[in-house]
Amino acid sequence: MSTFKAPKGTYDLLPPDSAKFLAVREAIAAPLRNSGYGYIETPSFETVELFARGVGESTDIVTKEMYVFETKGGDRLALRPETTAPVLRAVLQANLHKAGNLPVKVWYSGSQYRYESPQKGRYRHFSQVGAEAIGAEDPALDAELIILADQSYRALGLRNFRILLNSLGDQECRPVYRAALQDFLRGLDLDEDTLRRAEINPLRVLDDKRQDVQKQLTDAPLLRDYLCDACKAYHEEVRELITAAGVVFEDDPKLVRGLDYYTRTTFEFVHDGLGSQSAVGGGGRYDGLSEMIGGPSLPSVGWALGVDRTVLALEAEGIELDIPSATSVYAVPLGEEARRILFAKVTELRKNGVAADFSYGGKGLKAAMKAANRSGARYALVLGERDLADGVVQLKDMESGEQTAIGVNEIVAELESRLG
Ligand code: ATP
Ligand code: MG
Repeated sequence: MSTFKAPKGTYDLLPPDSAKFLAVREAIAAPLRNSGYGYIETPSFETVELFARGVGESTDIVTKEMYVFETKGGDRLALRPETTAPVLRAVLQANLHKAGNLPVKVWYSGSQYRYESPQKGRYRHFSQVGAEAIGAEDPALDAELIILADQSYRALGLRNFRILLNSLGDQECRPVYRAALQDFLRGLDLDEDTLRRAEINPLRVLDDKRQDVQKQLTDAPLLRDYLCDACKAYHEEVRELITAAGVVFEDDPKLVRGLDYYTRTTFEFVHDGLGSQSAVGGGGRYDGLSEMIGGPSLPSVGWALGVDRTVLALEAEGIELDIPSATSVYAVPLGEEARRILFAKVTELRKNGVAADFSYGGKGLKAAMKAANRSGARYALVLGERDLADGVVQLKDMESGEQTAIGVNEIVAELESRLG
């Protein structure tokens, strides 16, 4: 064992389990690719200022959780704690929003970094797949994203998740609500920090996880009672569209995001088998974000789903993904000459699109067949001295155990036909 360990709050993805992560990413991405979302990739670090403005100076992410460093050139950068602000930055920088084809629909997949207290489902390095639809205000777009996330989870076989939905209002109605909430909060018995938060960012107090705080919030005014007519109509249409699509959701009038540029639709996917780290994904409208980072007005909506917690959710539901074996054919040479011949055949098989692997290191028959078994290959090719003299190779069906001799020159055609 090496003296080095993965840093606190991180873990390695290793085969065979890593295949699950790939499958989850793929399952989340597939419905997006199928719905007009193009792949986007941005750097894993950005200037600190982008997150300070794009995530919010007063958020835990920016004040406590960011990995900030200074480069040798004196730039202040941060490892990305989330990818919405970077995506919007990239779209604005490339002027994609000016190409006359709004909304710009993109999806991403990648690592996120947050300095958190590590626990099950909460890591310092984790992975998200996300989608953003930039530059359109249309309830069908909000509905589309919720439907696609639902479809991803269902395709994975998940059942015990719930979709929580709320509207945060807009620039017209939220200020009125904000003032009413502030009034209410001022009358509560809260610690100094929380009272200060109530002044700067009262909606965030609703999100306080402490029970004694939550108890006091039972009678807090609710945004839904303050929504203006336009926001009400918008929200009603989102609800109708996702209902018509057969997506089951729960109205959660206390679901909030603390920052002013989040508007209208907000939602969270929670899984009931994950204990306190129950959020598997979240998203919503962020109509004001573009202007916060110096862009034009670009109403947008998006979500990010956590890959790590989705894998935990699969485990909690006891779901085994049907991941096809990576290797179809495993070649076992016995002796020098057999090695050269079979290695060439393996290369040829691979060129023809057959997934093949090879017994390396001069293993004997027993150890090599064990490795063939472990590889999950459907067929083994065994080439020994007597076979060599006969110009044949033994083709073993690893499922039935049946073994047949075939000509060395027939290997590729025979396996292609057997594997369909
Ligand atoms: P939480 O309330 O659990 O801290 P969050 O609101 O910070 O979640 P978002 O920023 O909305 O989460 O990120 C979207 C998703 O990314 C979450 O629903 C979760 O699945 C995942 N996620 C967020 N933080 C972590 C983390 N530290 N470790 C693993 N997954 C995470
Ligand atoms: Mg968090």
